[in-house]
Amino acid sequence: MTNSRDDLTVVLSRIKAFLRDDVFPLEQDFLRRPFRDLVPALNEKRLRVKALGLWAPHLPHEYGGLGLSLSEFAHVSEELGRTPLGHYLFNCQAPDIGNTEILISHATSEQKERYLWPLIRGEVRSCFSMTEPEHPGSNPTWMSTTAVKDGQDYVINGHKWFTSSAEGANFAIVMAITNPESTSPHKKASQIIVPTNTPGFNLVRNINVMGDEGSDYASHAEVRYDDCRVPQRNLLGREGAGFLIAQERLGPGRIHHCMRWIGICERAFDLMCGYAARRELSPGVLLGSRQSVQEWIAESRAEISAARLLVLQTAGEIDQHSAAAVREDISLIKFFVAGILQKVLDRAIQTHGAFGLTDATLLSYWYRHERGARIYDGPDEVHKTVVARSVLKKYGVEL
Ligand SMILES: Cc1cc2nc3c(=O)[nH]c(=O)nc-3n(C[C@H](O)[C@H](O)[C@H](O)COP(=O)(O)OP(=O)(O)OC[C@H]3O[C@@H](n4cnc5c(N)ncnc54)[C@H](O)[C@@H]3O)c2cc1C
Repeated sequence: MTNSRDDLTVVLSRIKAFLRDDVFPLEQDFLRRPFRDLVPALNEKRLRVKALGLWAPHLPHEYGGLGLSLSEFAHVSEELGRTPLGHYLFNCQAPDIGNTEILISHATSEQKERYLWPLIRGEVRSCFSMTEPEHPGSNPTWMSTTAVKDGQDYVINGHKWFTSSAEGANFAIVMAITNPESTSPHKKASQIIVPTNTPGFNLVRNINVMGDEGSDYASHAEVRYDDCRVPQRNLLGREGAGFLIAQERLGPGRIHHCMRWIGICERAFDLMCGYAARRELSPGVLLGSRQSVQEWIAESRAEISAARLLVLQTAGEIDQHSAAAVREDISLIKFFVAGILQKVLDRAIQTHGAFGLTDATLLSYWYRHERGARIYDGPDEVHKTVVARSVLKKYGVEL
C-alpha cells in the first residue's frame, strides 16, 4: 500500500510520461515487425523501468515491487493497458503475473530461489498449462493429464493447448491429476512446476489464432507431456490443492485484465473522438456532427466510466475481504467489461471506416487480439450463470 493517494498519483503520472515518451513511439514497429526483432529495444526499456523504480509494481516491497494494494495496482494496470507493450515492459504481463503471485503464496524457499526470483528479475518467462483440447476449459475440474508418482518423481502424461507464452518460457506450471481417488472433483488435481527443457515437455506448435500464430510472449501453444519426469519437490502447494490455487490466481487476475481492457477502451475512445473531430464528410462538415457517431461517443463514455467504477469497487472488496467473498462480483465484471471492450473497439473501427481496418492504428490489432477476452479466464456464459444463480438464490431458488 502506498502512503497516500498522492503517492499513487505521482506513480501514475510517472508511468504516463514514460509510456508517452518511450513506449508509444515503439508501437508502429510492434505492429509491423516480429516480436523477436524488438527484444533488444524492449530490454533497454525494461532496464529504464527498473532505473525509474517502477519495476513489477504489483509486487510487495519485500519482493522488489511498489507494495500496491489491488485497488491501487488496478489504476496502474489501466495506464499500462493503453499500449500493448505496457505490462510486458513493467514485468506484470499475464501469465507471469499470476504465476508470480501463486509462487509467492505457495512455493517452498528452494522453489522461490529457482523459479520465482528469476521471474521477478525478468530474466525468464513462464506459462500456465491447464486447458486441454479434449475437455471443456470452462470445466477445469475435468481433465485427463495425470502425474503419477514413481520413486522420487512425478511422471506427467497429457495434452494441453492454449498454454500462452510457452514458447521461450523457462518453466510451466502444469495442472495434472494426482489424486484420482478423491471424491471431490476439486481435490483431484495438483499444480506442478515443469522446466520446459525437461525431456517429454514437447511444444507441438504455436496455435494460429485469428490468422496469427504469434511468437514468444504473445503465443498460445499446444503442448504434449510424454512421460515427462520431474522431482516430487516440484509440487506447488499441497497435493490435490491445484484447483484451489487456480481459483486464487483467477480472482485478482480478472481485476488485472479488466483494468487493462479499460486502458484499451480509453485509448480506442481517444482515437475515435480524435478522428471524429478532424475527418470531414464534406467541406466543413465533421464526422463528429453525425448523430450516430455522437451516440457511439456518449455511450462509450458512459460505459467505460461505469465499468471502471465497478472494477474498482470489486478490487476494493477483495482488498478488504478476499476474492472468495466476492466471487459473483468478479464474474460480473469479467463478462461486463469484456463486452464493453468489444463494443468500444468496434465503434472506434466503424468511425475510422476502412482506415480502421489497417495497421496504421492499434485498433485492428486489438480487435483481433481481444476477441478472446470473452473466452479466456472463463467464457461470458459461465460468468453470467454464476451471477444469475447468486441473484436467484436470494429469491429462494438453488440451481
Ligand atoms: C487468448 C487465450 C489465452 C489462453 N491462455 C491460456 C493459458 O495460458 N493457459 C490455459 O490453461 N488456458 C488458456 N486459455 C484457455 C481458456 O482458459 C479456455 O479457452 C476457456 O476456459 C474456455 O474453455 P474452452 O475454450 O475449452 O471452451 P469450452 O469450455 O469448450 O466452451 C465452449 C463454449 O461453450 C459455452 N459454454 C461453456 N460452458 C458453459 C456453461 N456452463 N453454460 C453455458 N455455456 C457454456 C461458451 O459459450 C463457451 O465459449 C486461453 C484461451 C484464450 C482464448
